[in-house]
Amino acid sequence: MTDGMSDDPRALVATGSQVLAAAGQGDMVWGHLAVRDPGGRGVWMKSAGWGLEEITPDRVLLVSWTGELLEGEGRVHLEHHIHTEIMRARPDVHVSLHTHSLTVNAFSALGEPLRALGHDAVVFAEHGLPRFTATDNLVRTPQLGRALAADLGDARACLMPGHGLAAVGRDIAHAVMYAILLERACRTQLTARAAGELRHWTGHQECLEKDAVAWPDSQIDAGWRYWRRRAALLQAL
Ligand SMILES: [Zn+2]
Repeated sequence: MTDGMSDDPRALVATGSQVLAAAGQGDMVWGHLAVRDPGGRGVWMKSAGWGLEEITPDRVLLVSWTGELLEGEGRVHLEHHIHTEIMRARPDVHVSLHTHSLTVNAFSALGEPLRALGHDAVVFAEHGLPRFTATDNLVRTPQLGRALAADLGDARACLMPGHGLAAVGRDIAHAVMYAILLERACRTQLTARAAGELRHWTGHQECLEKDAVAWPDSQIDAGWRYWRRRAALLQAL
């Protein structure tokens, strides 16, 4: 990190979780974010039983590649397979997250492609926005985790119809921003669809060009810093 934020995976998980909550993606005590262990032992993720906004570094656990609790005190989320299997399949991914966004679920139920109606959706133009098809149920086995990783492919996020979303990034800024941008893009399309038919959206080629201009690393980082400030304000209330 270049802005004084700790590289400690516990701190990254806590801050990322609080930002997701501040962005409205909490679902009581469900949903989670994981950071790849720099030592290769597994993933750091929040303990079960806490809301995203309640996560502090002492509520973060080191979970092995096969789901054992290696460090920290608390219960491992049943759906840790989402993170262990995605990170096993994607060496480029250092942060993965899963939320039960109501907005994304409402959008997924339409069964239609995401259209770029603003800046948000263009980040998904290059690699697409796949749908997880194996189950609407919890990702409770390694096999389902691998199926999710396969459906995700090399994309930045994946719809999980009837359940939520998964988003990934090479660092916490990218993973969290992709989740926030996806929720906003889905909300925009739902709003337009509620009012009538879609008659205008940005075409694929212009999306690619716009992604390069609107979402270079510097802008992803600027958005991430904004959300960290906003989450800190909420935590101080
Ligand atoms: Zn879930």
